[in-house]
Amino acid sequence: MEAFFPGGTPLSVLTTQPLDGPLDYLAPDGGVVLGALVMVPLGPRRVIGVVWGDAAGDYPSDKLRPIARMLDVPPMRREMRSFLVRAGAYTLTPLYQMLRMALRAPGLSETPADRIVYLRGHGEADRMTAARERVLDVLDAAPNTVYLAKELADLAGVSPSVVKGLASQGVVATRTAPRDAPYPELDTDRPGKPLSEAQKAAATELIATQTGAFSTTLLWGVTGSGKTEVYMEAVAACIRAGRQALVLIPEIALTVDFLARVEARFGVRPAEWHYGVTMTERRRCWKQVAEGQAKLVVGARSALYLPFRDLGLIVVDEEHDGSYKQDDGVLYSARDMSVLRASLAKAQVILASATPALESWVNAENGKYNRVVLSDRFGDARLPEMRAIDLREEVLPANTWISPTLSAEIDRRLSNGEQSLLFLNRRGYAPITVCRVCGFQIGCDHCDARMVEHRFRGELVCHQCGETKAKPKTCPSCGIEDRFAAVGPGIERLAEEAKARFPSARLSLLSSDMMLSGQALRDHIAGIASGEADIIIGTQLVAKGHNFPLLTCVGVIDADLGLQGGDLRAAEKTFQLIRQVAGRAGRSDKQGVAFIQTHQPEHPVIKAILSGDEEAFWAAEVAERKRAQVPPFARLAGVVISGQNEAQVRATAAELARRAEPLWSMGAEVFGPAPAPIARIRGRHRMRILVRASKDSRLQSALLTWRASVKIPNQVRVSIDIDPQSFY
Ligand code: ADP
Ligand code: ZN
Repeated sequence: MEAFFPGGTPLSVLTTQPLDGPLDYLAPDGGVVLGALVMVPLGPRRVIGVVWGDAAGDYPSDKLRPIARMLDVPPMRREMRSFLVRAGAYTLTPLYQMLRMALRAPGLSETPADRIVYLRGHGEADRMTAARERVLDVLDAAPNTVYLAKELADLAGVSPSVVKGLASQGVVATRTAPRDAPYPELDTDRPGKPLSEAQKAAATELIATQTGAFSTTLLWGVTGSGKTEVYMEAVAACIRAGRQALVLIPEIALTVDFLARVEARFGVRPAEWHYGVTMTERRRCWKQVAEGQAKLVVGARSALYLPFRDLGLIVVDEEHDGSYKQDDGVLYSARDMSVLRASLAKAQVILASATPALESWVNAENGKYNRVVLSDRFGDARLPEMRAIDLREEVLPANTWISPTLSAEIDRRLSNGEQSLLFLNRRGYAPITVCRVCGFQIGCDHCDARMVEHRFRGELVCHQCGETKAKPKTCPSCGIEDRFAAVGPGIERLAEEAKARFPSARLSLLSSDMMLSGQALRDHIAGIASGEADIIIGTQLVAKGHNFPLLTCVGVIDADLGLQGGDLRAAEKTFQLIRQVAGRAGRSDKQGVAFIQTHQPEHPVIKAILSGDEEAFWAAEVAERKRAQVPPFARLAGVVISGQNEAQVRATAAELARRAEPLWSMGAEVFGPAPAPIARIRGRHRMRILVRASKDSRLQSALLTWRASVKIPNQVRVSIDIDPQSFY
């Protein structure tokens, strides 16, 4: 039972306003329970907050104002409050900001009322227009979803009158629906796909660890082994036990496939939570999760902050994926925070991957995590063969990137009606635009970064800040006209080469910046899977878990790319990425082959990829990290000091480095300050300090003391990234 504050009792309320901590108020008439969501007066406004505990008593009690109103949603549970406190303390994030993440659903303070929703009807339109077609496309893409008129119009890119027009003819049906309707019940008794013996054993093991206590299990299975089918059984067991399950997915384009699989397994679709979901659906999801009605949520990393009533299972699919780390705003790793949340909720965590993060691997090795292994592909599918193409031997003509060997292999696939995938992790046409006369390179005005040509869009783009400009006619440096040259490949340029080389092939480009909406991306991927393309050309977006059954040939255009640059995870990331991409090949009965174009086939990482000896790779990488004393064998914090005024940024960084006593005294090392590799972004100058401490140190509290001990000018921002993944 939560504490109850009778009417008129002083108590504290945490709000989402940027304040140091909770503020004192009085309980309203009738009293209020700890954790209740409330509206409180703050100055002239009313703001949302959560009843957080006893009054701090630092404000005269006769001046306290009462809580204005209680919201019609379940109180925030103790487990969730602890989670926000602990996650905030870990990531050095102020509590109000943590609360914002937990209340990120629109209209929580509104009273539910009925509303008119729109869905697919059975009528015939008197005439079709392009705008009307788009509305129907949206409705047909998700047949079970209902929309408000405005939402439907926005998604289709038409005015609401188009929707109303279709409604008047019954092509679009209307219905009165209560807000926040419950989700249909998942039927866990429906038979799933018949599992293979190995899958059955893995599912049984997973379910056995579901004891109502906290546990973490690494589900390590090669690509195509059926990890999804297996963890779905753990989801079923969790729901049968009356608890809620959350499945995190790294890329929303993957949700279509996943939703379809949930529907096949449980008869209905689960609740969805990601930025592609409408506001109405978000709010519905938040509320039904809080009520305990939504039993299964599939979502992006922010779903971790949903108010589950009884969370029994979190699956982190493709747990190694870099997108689980949020690297702006609150800097957190959704994988690590899943483990924290589960430990507080007494829930099970399943980390699923074919290429786990080294951290997870080590935790499984030392017994901190359970490990369940699926070592074979399902059915007749076999793992792709890996072959190196040594670019020192196959010399390519200037400005081409597809070797003769790879080209011949693609030709073979084309005549067999099979698909090929060309992988290059570089968006745009060319990474560098240079003046042939004077060597000037076009850079961004706001960042220390080159502008990347995007030829399809007809502009140069800064990948740091998104700034665009037209390709200039004359060189700003030497003033000579029309002598700019593109240097190096991006996927658009690769596509140009492929088009010339394979004129009859249907090409499909897949890169995050080319798709206008999540919907377009999902359609595109579904199209590829059903065979609408012969050659797919993609960035790392294609590496993520898609099933392309017709794909039998993967060409990695430049395997050396990720190995450059001094990132401590360069080897790990290259290994994961190339193995993931290669894993797209041969997912059905036909053998797949992955061709790795490289200048350094003897590089240990490339050798490990080719040999497929994963255990050996991880063992070597673990030894290397141990030797270098870097994570997971030490703790790191990346500190970025930034601001418009370079001198001020430098001075602040120097002062922080000089005054690092709180860090030194616990044995931590402080490196820097040094200009960040990208020393200016969006006009802000950036300096970096790196802090390394031993595994068992109390790093966070020392960092807080340190930061508080230095006067930081208002215009300078100091952001601290615990367990940094990127170092730019
Ligand atoms: P992973 O996530 O390990 O790469 P998936 O779960 O996506 O593997 O499975 C790969 C493919 O094999 C999918 O198309 C899936 O539907 C199919 N598959 C896996 N297990 C089974 C099974 N037991 N019965 C039928 N199809 C299966
Ligand atoms: Zn820029």
